Amino acid sequence: MTRHQQKTLLERYQKLIEISRGLASTFDLDILLDRIVNAAADLSNASEASILLYDEVKNELVFQAATNEPVMRGLSVPVGSSIAGWIVRNQEPIIIGDVSHDERYFKNIEDTVNIPTYSLLGVPMIAKDKVIGALEAINKQDGDFTLEDQEILMILGAQAAIAIENTRLFQQSDLVSEFVHELRTPLSSITTAAQLLLYPSLPEEKHIKMARVIQTESIRLSEMATSFLNLAKLESGRSTYDVKEISIAQLLDDCSDLMSTNAAKEGLNLQREYPQDLPPIQGDYDKLKQAIINLISNGIKYNRPGGDIILRSYSEGDNLIIEVEDTGIGIPKEHQDRLFEKFYRVPGSENISTGTGLGLAVVKRIVEGHQGHIQVVSDQGVGTIFKITLPIL
Ligand code: ADP
Repeated sequence: MTRHQQKTLLERYQKLIEISRGLASTFDLDILLDRIVNAAADLSNASEASILLYDEVKNELVFQAATNEPVMRGLSVPVGSSIAGWIVRNQEPIIIGDVSHDERYFKNIEDTVNIPTYSLLGVPMIAKDKVIGALEAINKQDGDFTLEDQEILMILGAQAAIAIENTRLFQQSDLVSEFVHELRTPLSSITTAAQLLLYPSLPEEKHIKMARVIQTESIRLSEMATSFLNLAKLESGRSTYDVKEISIAQLLDDCSDLMSTNAAKEGLNLQREYPQDLPPIQGDYDKLKQAIINLISNGIKYNRPGGDIILRSYSEGDNLIIEVEDTGIGIPKEHQDRLFEKFYRVPGSENISTGTGLGLAVVKRIVEGHQGHIQVVSDQGVGTIFKITLPIL
């Protein structure tokens, strides 16, 4: 080994140590995975890198992060007939000079994302003796992948696997304890109401009131359970994104068809302000639908009698904007930063409408899962606009 080679090897190890330190500093799974794929491409001098995590239920490997996101995200490959599957089944690394001659290569992905693959280096990601997925780098930019690249990626893969497992555990325990804490309020209302109902001298008219409390709080509990499971799935990275080309006008038409009766029941108007010929975007239709429905549902809940909800969309440079505007109570400035936190409700909201405080957390997750972002503009007593920005690819 020449002195030059030794130096670069040393430099790469130093970089690896730096990256490993950085991995421990976040418990946000998306950020973590993003760091890992970028580090993998950088350290092995590959043009792209990706992480596939194993989904035990479906027995497939799902692209969870890639340097060329979000094209890859959510795509899956079979464990039985793919290179990533081979890595996971054998728990061994692999270097392939030209994948087109390899019968394990699952070509569908290349056809879908239009990125030709030539050379490939893949390593298993193993945490506590369990394979959780594979880390792959493709198309080495200078020559072929070497055993040295493989060794470095193996170390990164092992560190990454532990960081991913820790993040999942941390998020789950954090979320579960918050959830249990939040369950207490509706549960104690239900218990009190039930006890009062059994009280022999409770006046007749109070019976209905107590039954109503039990009914609303039970509905709230069940909504909380659904939103909670949704969020837990999104946060743990176990929720897969079924990415396809989407017509936003169709998506918004769908959402507005679904919600217009709810709006009308409350005496509100749901208006559509978007052209039918918006540029298509790449995304998960059902997830985006859920996000927009959550926003419309808030626009209905926190509106004023006879108010409006406006569903708007337009393109702005390389982005597509979706806005949900309402003419409702608005949100005081000091609470706007915390709206997207789990279980956060603006004080006093419980007097206006039932809610779980999870809807906006779910929306934010979904939008960020599409490499987008969400902003809120609100004036107390005038109304609120939630603005989603999504990249057009
Ligand atoms: P919730 O189930 O409580 O509606 P969300 O996460 O959807 O939970 O919203 C969090 C809080 O943000 C709500 O409790 C409410 O205080 C406030 N909020 C959300 N959307 C609006 C809106 N359109 N107008 C006014 N306040 C809103």
